[in-house]
Amino acid sequence: MSVLDRFSLKGKVALVTGSSTGLGQGMSIAFAEAGAKVLGVDYVDSPETKKVIEAAGGQFHSVVANLMTLEPLQGLVDETVKVFGKIDILVNNAGIIRRCDIIDFTEKDWDDVLDLNLKTVFFLSQAAARQFIKQGTGGKIINIASMLSFQGGIRVVSYTASKSGVAGITKAMANEWAKHNICTNAIAPGYMATNNTAQLRADADRSEAILGRIPAGRWGLPDDLMGPAIFLASDASNYLNGAVVPVDGGWLAR
Ligand code: NAD
Repeated sequence: MSVLDRFSLKGKVALVTGSSTGLGQGMSIAFAEAGAKVLGVDYVDSPETKKVIEAAGGQFHSVVANLMTLEPLQGLVDETVKVFGKIDILVNNAGIIRRCDIIDFTEKDWDDVLDLNLKTVFFLSQAAARQFIKQGTGGKIINIASMLSFQGGIRVVSYTASKSGVAGITKAMANEWAKHNICTNAIAPGYMATNNTAQLRADADRSEAILGRIPAGRWGLPDDLMGPAIFLASDASNYLNGAVVPVDGGWLAR
């Protein structure tokens, strides 16, 4: 087997949350191109993702579910196994952000963000890990963290809490599950041009300040996560556990 074959996802099955747009769409398309069958879940349908994947000869199964509660989580793992026979890769990508000065921050903006960005990430990972252990195959969990897994941010305190939590539970899960050949890692994207940052990019002052601090001199794109996501999902990263990998155009290096 050539070393490049270890990056292939041929024969693998991935469950990706937040597959309709942005980074989750990009990673779904990348996984399919690398050979995986993909079950994408989102609270809206993912027709564009399906179209791109199927046009290239790949397989994509779309499930519509609201991940704000734990109720659908076990069913998603069960459906992946039912449709594609097993699960090898979980990407916890679905996430939201609420912007408000800390002094005025509401309980709802705290709970909504923590429920989706942290609680669901934990319990969906648990459901997937139980299935990996039952299969005896090991598996890969990729959590989508943020620069705010490392930094405090401005006007997004519940998001910072959730993403700092994601970095913490990524390491905790890696510690307990590495012995089952489950690799749990996170990708921490920098400032990426998606819906998540539309408000920031529309604010000329904030946008200029952010751009001026990114050594690469540009906002990131879904395309920029494809290689790192395939690496973490593939056998090329089998000894990588508990890492939070920045893909940020150098932001953290400043
Ligand atoms: P996005 O808003 O385009 O994508 C978020 C996805 O999650 C969408 O497909 C959306 O439909 C889905 N989603 C939202 N609420 C949901 C719910 N209740 N149930 C199911 N699905 C739901 O933004 P994105 O930038 O692609 O974000 C993807 C992930 O990357 C998020 O976790 C985000 O926090 C993280 N991230 C983004 C950036 C950035 O700069 N864009 C930076 C760091 C981390």
